[in-house]
Amino acid sequence: MSTVLVLNSGSSSLKYQLVDPAPGDALAAGIVERIGEASGRASHEVRGARTVREGAVADHGAALRLVLELFEETGPSLGEAGVVAVGHRVVHGGTSFSAPVVVDDDVVAAVRDLIPLAPLHNPANVTGIEVARELLDVPHVAVFDTAFFADLPAPAATYAIDRGTAAEHGIRRYGFHGTSHEYVSRAVAEHPAVTAKLAAEGRGPETLRQVVLHLGNGASASAVLGGRAVETSMGLTPLEGLVMGTRSGDVDAGIVFHLIRSGLSPDEVDTLLNKRSGLLGLGGVNDMRELTRLIESGDDDARLALDVYLHRLRKYVGAYAAVLGGIDVLAFTAGVGENAAHVRAGVVEGLGFLGLGVVPDLNAARARESRVISPTEPEAPARPLVMVVPTNEELAIARQSLAVLAAR
Ligand code: ADP
Repeated sequence: MSTVLVLNSGSSSLKYQLVDPAPGDALAAGIVERIGEASGRASHEVRGARTVREGAVADHGAALRLVLELFEETGPSLGEAGVVAVGHRVVHGGTSFSAPVVVDDDVVAAVRDLIPLAPLHNPANVTGIEVARELLDVPHVAVFDTAFFADLPAPAATYAIDRGTAAEHGIRRYGFHGTSHEYVSRAVAEHPAVTAKLAAEGRGPETLRQVVLHLGNGASASAVLGGRAVETSMGLTPLEGLVMGTRSGDVDAGIVFHLIRSGLSPDEVDTLLNKRSGLLGLGGVNDMRELTRLIESGDDDARLALDVYLHRLRKYVGAYAAVLGGIDVLAFTAGVGENAAHVRAGVVEGLGFLGLGVVPDLNAARARESRVISPTEPEAPARPLVMVVPTNEELAIARQSLAVLAAR
């Protein structure tokens, strides 16, 4: 067995999963939270059985040592699990990384150099890589959230601001959630309903036009043509684009200057737009399940929050259909996209002019597999497919880690 330990280091958390990439199984998964605080907590899950440890965890090194202890005590033993690599999720790869890389000192330095572009994420990613390299003597691979979007066409990647200033400060559209968009768009392209549709229309896979909506707590859209990302909604940072749990998505940049001139500090505006906006800012809660309960109890603010969320999504799907010159598949993924049938219905409502629609029973059904929820042939042969495709970023990172090692 060849397994990969996938690590996702946040500023105060360490998420991990031990993955057997061939069948795509998670052998164990867990999280250490509130690193650096007195009330630290680790939760380790193996085949449905959870072990929880409470108590202070000083730093990421202590967190990873705790994880290794939990593996030894409750299994599976990492020594026996055949760990051949550690795969690290790294948020920002800038223009330096358009594919996963085997980590060496130069890679660590390059990820550190990108900290100004991702001050909230890359510092923790660097720390996670450093402590893991000390404790786990196998090759380490960095997989970048931006990589799938590294070759966005120039018109999509370029902000219309002074070129010299943009070049000096590395300002362009990078995109995020790329591991998920790549995994989902590939699963779509391989789905039998999609290959059958292309075959029936006498088209090759290079013509497949997809819009992928990754709707989690963070949310992003991508337009994918024949497997290549040609547009995405997040930009220099993950703030741009869709309405999210706590982020505003698109706003007039003039709001920033107005608030700063009105006395808010840059950090306060940053916190406002990243942490106190979106569904939370409008409806009082960032979790879609809670928002839905509020709406059902007649809460008008929650209703407006969902209406703004859906309006933004419809605008993006329409815009991306225009970018692609049509749409063959609209795919929903992540926590909201995979589970919230009313959100999927709300997005396609009003997009009937693009041929988009869902069958209520198919939309309401729950499943772990990728599935089509739009009317199927023979009723609707030429219409685009609407699909629900579960994402699995850990599996994608594990597989990419093995692939980059095999190519060495
Ligand atoms: P993250 O970005 O943190 O990885 P997830 O992909 O786990 O986020 O998505 C979290 C979001 O998914 C939350 O808003 C949550 O309410 C929503 N969600 C999860 N399960 C359901 C469900 N059954 N119905 C509606 N929303 C759900």
